[in-house]
This record gives sequence, C-alpha cells and structure tokens, in this order.
Amino acid sequence: MNEQQRCGYIAIIGRPNVGKSTLLNGILGQKISITSPKPQTTRSQILGIKTVDSTQAIYIDTPGWHDNQKGAMNRYLNRLATSVIMDANVILFMITATQFTAEDEKVLSHLEKVSCPVILLINKVDTLKDKSRLLPFMEKMREKYDFAAMIPLSAKKKDNVVELQQTVSTLLPEGPHLFPEEQVTDKSVRFQIAELIREKVIQATEQELPYSTTVEIEHVQTKEKMMDISAIIWVEREGQKPIVIGKNGARLKKIGTAARKDIQILVKQKVFLRLWVKVKAHWTEDERTLNSTLPH
Ligand code: GDP
Ligand code: MG
Repeated sequence: MNEQQRCGYIAIIGRPNVGKSTLLNGILGQKISITSPKPQTTRSQILGIKTVDSTQAIYIDTPGWHDNQKGAMNRYLNRLATSVIMDANVILFMITATQFTAEDEKVLSHLEKVSCPVILLINKVDTLKDKSRLLPFMEKMREKYDFAAMIPLSAKKKDNVVELQQTVSTLLPEGPHLFPEEQVTDKSVRFQIAELIREKVIQATEQELPYSTTVEIEHVQTKEKMMDISAIIWVEREGQKPIVIGKNGARLKKIGTAARKDIQILVKQKVFLRLWVKVKAHWTEDERTLNSTLPH
C-alpha cells in the first residue's frame, strides 16, 4: 500500500550572508542557488525540490527584504519576499551562531503576520569556538518567538542538515506531489547556466561591481557532444566594462574558465563558452524591463 503523500513549500528567510543558498544547495546536492561572501547575490526566487520517498519538500530561497524602497528592483523583491512567507507551509528563519542582529530583528518582524510553523536555524555552528554559548543563546531566542523548533547546524559542513529535513517533513501537509520525483528545480537549464556565470562574475569582481549585473544567454547549441554557449554579461556603465574584462582580458578569461567547469557538471557534457561584456543603461530602474528579464 502506498504511504500517504506529503508535499509543501518551505521558505528560507534571513538577512543576507547567513547561509541560505548554501543550505539549499546542500539539501539538493547540487548547486542551484548561487552563493558568495558578498550579500544580495540571490536575486530571484529559486525553487529547490527534494523528493524523498512519500515526501516532496519544495524549498524557496528568497532574496529577502530590502530597506531601500526606491528602486523598482527593491520594491519587486520586497513584494516577492512577503508573498513567499504568506504562502509557505513551513518557514526556516536562519540566523548565525551566536548573534542576533538588528537586521535579524527586522526579518523576524515580518513573521508576526504568518500562521505556519517557523523553525529557527542557527547556522555556522562550525565557527563557534565555545559551544557552551549555544544553549543560553537558544534560551534567549525562545523568548523572541514561538518557534516550532530550533536547530543549530552548519550548512557548509552539512552538520544536522538531514535532521532538519526530517523535522521539515513532519510539518508538511498531506497532498499529492507537484513535481516529478527527479526534478530538482523549476528553473530552466538556460537560467541555471546564466546564474553560474553571474556567480563567477560576482566572485571575480568582489566589491567592485554592483549586484545589478545580469547575464543573458544568447544561444545554446549542442553539436557532436559539445555544448556551444554564448552569453552577454550586462553591466550598467561603460566604466564597469574594464572591471569585468580585466587587464588584457585576464579576468574575463578566469570567469569563463570557472563558469565552464560548473556548467559542464550541470549539463554533463563538454562546453565551449563565449562571453561578451556590454552596457545596458539604467535597467534596474525600469520595472517593466525587470519583469521581463526576471524569471518567474
Ligand atoms: P545567503 O546570502 O544567506 O544565501 O548566504 P550564502 O549561502 O551565499 O553564504 C554566505 C557565506 O557564508 C558564503 O561565503 C558561505 O560559504 C558561508 N557559509 C554558509 N554556511 C556556512 C556554515 O555553515 N559555516 C561557515 N563557516 N560558513 C558558511
Ligand atoms: Mg543567497
């Protein structure tokens, strides 16, 4: 007899850099959400689907809320973040051991409106020298919100991540699975390729480029077991082009090599990658362009 199926949405929220994307990639065993030591690298909502036996957990990695309501991009992201927590079946609220910052407090304030169970994830416990600080910290956190559970973990070292998934599955509602068992994300391969390139751009340029850099895949063509990809890295100003290209094209070459390696793992074949850097003026300020360029 078939066990009763469970299926539901799990929103992963928390201030930038706590480790949300790292956790999602760890759960899926595949890089679908880009990570970096630089905040605000996740720009659209990423679905990560994990099906284990009768349970399908659909995780949503959100870019979170932004204080600055001025740009169309930030307004769009704030609306997105709010709708994600209102529709979730379970919320994972991630902070890091053992601090609770003003920014964490702001994220927590959004949870006043929700009615689903919220699990507090205390991440990066691997960095904790004095583990005895964890218990009093958890006591303090218990007073802040009626959490369904509190789980210390290390997303990077994958400590306690399986236990987290087990706790999540007990909280998901009964219902049929929404995606085929083998599907890992709702994003197309094209989108994932663009994200992998964007990740390398961010990693190679560190603090020099704003997070509004985008990547557009011009074409993808498979010929003789080789995938031929050409992509455009869009920057906002002419002056940002040399930042991406580097001296004699050295940086762009490094970006291309690193991206190609990851893309080959994703598509499981050899890749020939061509990258172009172009200027697209003020695209973040135009909400219509935004809606047409961001995947839904
Ligand atoms: P996000 O902005 O919340 O999605 O955070 P990311 O997943 O991009 O991670 C931000 C940074 O924290 C990256 O440099 C990660 O490698 C690092 N990180 C994430 N999880 C852990 C962890 O458990 N331990 C440690 N030491 N670092 C982590
Ligand atoms: Mg992220």
